[in-house]
Amino acid sequence: MAKNASFEALTVETLPARLGALETLAGHLGKDVSAWRVREVGDGNLNLVFIVEGEKGSVVVKQALPYVRLVGESWPLPLKRSFFEYHALVRQEARAGKGSVPAILHFDEAQALIVMEFLTPHIILRKELIAGRQPPRIAEDLGLFVARTLFRGSDLHMTARERKVDLALFADNVELCDITENLVFTDPYFEATLNRHTPALDPLVAELRADRDLKVEAQRLKHLFAANAETLLHGDLHTGSIMVTDADTRVIDPEFAFYGPMAFDVGMLLSNFWMSYFSQSGHEQGGSREAMRAYLLETVTGIWSVFRAEFSRLWRTERTGMLYARSLFEDRSDALGAEQALDRVLHDLWQDLLGFAGVEAHRRILGLAHNADFETIENEAKRAVCEAKALRFGRHIAVNRRTIHSIEEVNALAALIEKGAYS
Ligand code: ADP
Ligand code: MG
Repeated sequence: MAKNASFEALTVETLPARLGALETLAGHLGKDVSAWRVREVGDGNLNLVFIVEGEKGSVVVKQALPYVRLVGESWPLPLKRSFFEYHALVRQEARAGKGSVPAILHFDEAQALIVMEFLTPHIILRKELIAGRQPPRIAEDLGLFVARTLFRGSDLHMTARERKVDLALFADNVELCDITENLVFTDPYFEATLNRHTPALDPLVAELRADRDLKVEAQRLKHLFAANAETLLHGDLHTGSIMVTDADTRVIDPEFAFYGPMAFDVGMLLSNFWMSYFSQSGHEQGGSREAMRAYLLETVTGIWSVFRAEFSRLWRTERTGMLYARSLFEDRSDALGAEQALDRVLHDLWQDLLGFAGVEAHRRILGLAHNADFETIENEAKRAVCEAKALRFGRHIAVNRRTIHSIEEVNALAALIEKGAYS
């Protein structure tokens, strides 16, 4: 493929001929291109995803399209998102370690395609949670992933120049950021055209859209998201962007990568576990999900505690950036000052993540992009009950985020709402 060839979408039929000459691919799959088997598996919203299997092995080829796949050509979206996804994957691997994301084998900017490791027998975490399975490693692996990527991508760790150059590189991911800005923070709170919700929720939805405190809080969170370029975020870190086995956890799909507040990734991630929690009763036909609910709350507690421990460890050992300089603290025998500052940083992060978690729950139920946890509950009345709980939960933690002090308190609130004992 010529280097600057104009973009052309791959198909199952054209892929072997178009990529067959790439040495890295032949190395992974085997040179006999005629033996390559290609299937398109993209169940995502935006891009093409092919699995290519050859005599020697297999790879995934992900290609962006110049529009939103889910909607069609009427919603154009820049191919450059593939460039941001590639650069984010490279940084995440460097910061969180090999094996935290799929290994990258090849990137072609003009064709907006990334060739990466085929994760198998990995399954999308969201599907596992809907099926009622309890992958054992996720709290540890995800807690470390967020702590390491968020800390090491910030002014706590990078040199000021290095970070500003990187900030400039990602600043152009405007359209995907715009999706987040509108779909997460604004559209759920008024009758935007792309919104939809389960009809039985009408009265509650009207109540939330008339809730001034909630609207103001959502806009303050949007303000924080847009104006606080603290670190390189994954930008779309939900359970559909995580693939697992019992022994391995990988984060995929960082095309929304952007510099924003640390609390955004953590809040979105935890929110998706809380939503899974509220969705479980809708999947209870096969038996009680009580143990699953306990597992989900333990996972949330686990992620937050691993995150804090690892973030604190990095604070003490890798605080090499311009913020909270050691020259002010440790170098003046004031290690206690550095601990006090750490405490403040974690405290702010905690309050902000509750806000982001709250609006994430709203947008998944009221906005355009719903999640399968609720969508796969076929009985509409049951689904509405689950969704209503998540909506009330989201409203409570977003509006009261400054007076909630611990993850145990939030989990206790979730349990109260689940039991129907909250009004
Ligand atoms: P989109 O950006 O369009 O949402 P994703 O990156 O989420 O695309 O990929 C869509 C689906 O393709 C995933 O849900 C997963 O099932 C599959 N997939 C993506 N990357 C890999 C990979 N490296 N290995 C195995 N499956 C993958
Ligand atoms: Mg995506």
